[in-house]
Amino acid sequence: MSEPFNPDAYGIDTLGVRAGTLRTGEFMEHSEAMYLTSSFCFNSAAEAAARFANSEEGYTYSRFTNPTVSMFQSRLAALEGAEACMATASGMSAILSVALATLQAGDHLVSSRSIFGSTMTLFNSILAKFGVETTYVDGTDLAAWRAAVKPNTKLFFLETPSNPLTEVSDIAAVADIAHNAGALFVVDNCFCSPALQQPIKFGADVVVHSATKHIDGQGRVLGGAVVGKHDFIMGKVFPFVRTAGPTLSAFNAWVMLKGMETLAIRMERHSQSALAIAEFLESHPAVNRVFHPALKSHPQYEIAQRQQSGGGAIVSFELKGDSPEAMRAAAWRVIDSTKLCSITGNLGDTRTTITHPYTTTHGRVAPEAKAAAGISEGLIRLAVGLESVEDLKADLLRGLGQ
Ligand SMILES: *Cc1c(COP(=O)(O)O)cnc(C)c1O
Repeated sequence: MSEPFNPDAYGIDTLGVRAGTLRTGEFMEHSEAMYLTSSFCFNSAAEAAARFANSEEGYTYSRFTNPTVSMFQSRLAALEGAEACMATASGMSAILSVALATLQAGDHLVSSRSIFGSTMTLFNSILAKFGVETTYVDGTDLAAWRAAVKPNTKLFFLETPSNPLTEVSDIAAVADIAHNAGALFVVDNCFCSPALQQPIKFGADVVVHSATKHIDGQGRVLGGAVVGKHDFIMGKVFPFVRTAGPTLSAFNAWVMLKGMETLAIRMERHSQSALAIAEFLESHPAVNRVFHPALKSHPQYEIAQRQQSGGGAIVSFELKGDSPEAMRAAAWRVIDSTKLCSITGNLGDTRTTITHPYTTTHGRVAPEAKAAAGISEGLIRLAVGLESVEDLKADLLRGLGQ
């Protein structure tokens, strides 16, 4: 449909707006078309048979092949510097697809402990039911990853930077440990997006995405993706999605194709604004600690500088207080005094969101586990959007006091 496009020949800004575009010869449309069709017609019974047998390329049925979804997949693969991508209905179904496509009863996986809540529930409640056991480690502790390996370890799962404290793990070092153990190394790249971090360059085998977050970036639709080597995606993930059906809709794929066109420019601004807010908070007397990977005070600042081209949108900060009750009151006062920030658990939006992890996103986590992960009553997580930084500072100052 369109001329060959070699992703290796272009920079990330170009890939975001041009990679993966398919154009029909009939209409020569400039912007990508949205193909809202569940199935595709064949010229003959023989052609239908060849398409279904995979002996001839072409579209058959949108549970597993659709041109709009193909464009989304090619563009995201290009941005991640990967050979291939399989889109899914959500970030959770991307993680589920990798797990079910690669693991079986009796297998073991090692995961960083600061991961998205539903990912932990998926490992603990659903995979466990099918005989897959999970060991959690401090993602920044290389010795802990090494020590967690067992003879039946098949998969390493890492989220970096972590939620909500933005802990940064050394992707290349964890990749070495995973590969020595013969395990598949999967990185959830939701917080950075490929605009700031490309885990495959540092040795990850597979990248999973909640495209719901920065890839859409405007809080509109759900989507997910699995990115990796061609043989892995087409040999393991594609057959799973084709059969099980956690498929990305063409409409959502189209929305997120448009999202990818502004991804690099948004991530750059998110990172700049978040760092400015983090520095402002660090100098405020009511604030105890601030967490953002681009702050010099961040414990893994050096690693973040090496593997990320920006700190990302997330800033977490802890308010001072003599007791847990006083810390919660201070945090809730800041949240409730905002007029601009949206009080919501989502992140990766053009609009700044603010949340109290202790009682919301991590509300179901046991108090001891929260303490171990450093999530206190005084902690606030901001996902800095694209508003004017001065307006955001003024919004936070309302509850912080001058
Ligand atoms: C939101 C999120 C997910 C899950 O994605 P959905 O699209 O909501 O299913 C997975 N990982 C991380 C880090 C997330 O923030």
